[in-house]
Amino acid sequence: MIELPETVVIADQINATAAGIRIARAVANASPHRFAWYTGDPAAYNAHLAGKAIGRAGGVGATIEIEVEDRVLAVGAPIRYHAQREPRPAKHQLLLELADGTALSATAQMWGGFFCLPRGEKAGFLEYDLAKERPSPLGDAFDRPYFDSLRDAGTPKLSAKAFLATEQRIPGLGNGVLQDILWAARVYPKRKMGTLSEAELDALFRAVKTVLAAMTEQGGRDTERDLFGRPGGYTTVLSKHTVGQPCPACRSILRKEVYMGGAIYTCPGCQKA
Ligand SMILES: [Zn+2]
Repeated sequence: MIELPETVVIADQINATAAGIRIARAVANASPHRFAWYTGDPAAYNAHLAGKAIGRAGGVGATIEIEVEDRVLAVGAPIRYHAQREPRPAKHQLLLELADGTALSATAQMWGGFFCLPRGEKAGFLEYDLAKERPSPLGDAFDRPYFDSLRDAGTPKLSAKAFLATEQRIPGLGNGVLQDILWAARVYPKRKMGTLSEAELDALFRAVKTVLAAMTEQGGRDTERDLFGRPGGYTTVLSKHTVGQPCPACRSILRKEVYMGGAIYTCPGCQKA
């Protein structure tokens, strides 16, 4: 699943390749998907978008936002670029055929929102609306005092995974990027927040900032793909690619466990339960 680093990378690539080009035709919901969400009738997307120019794109949490004149497209799924005469994907939830013969398409991973909104309007989908309101962990407003303000009376009982990667507390920080953040902080995912020392909280804050910045600067994670279908340049320490291999820091064998309805990857040497 794409998360904040990939949405920022893909948005930058859209700015470099498609900005200013008009949409010739928009097709939404061509391949009905149980966990794909739209705003209003997807059949109306073409009327909202055709003839209008692609404007600025940006990564907002786990969503790629594209301004299209008086509208905003907000896509919670990877977007792919297709050159002229290149075949379009067999299945897609959103296809934008552009006036120069190229195209952009988006296909849901496990789920995804494909929203087409009047500019300035809320989507009515909590995850996206919250991500728009809260500071991005890649920005300066997300500093140590802000990070501390995310903790409240209920936090001590939460695990580190639940604190960092649920409730959109930190926009775009999901179960994927979480693994390397916790490894870099040397915190085991099931540790209760109330048991973390001041030094561990500081390590957690620094890991959120530095790991997300590194993933973004290096073009996203190697487990995900960019606008052109290429894997990202950030080599994940903990992911499906590395389970069973030795930890780069301590040589312990990296593990996979299931926790809170998702996989967690850990190093038994670096992250003590
Ligand atoms: Zn280790």
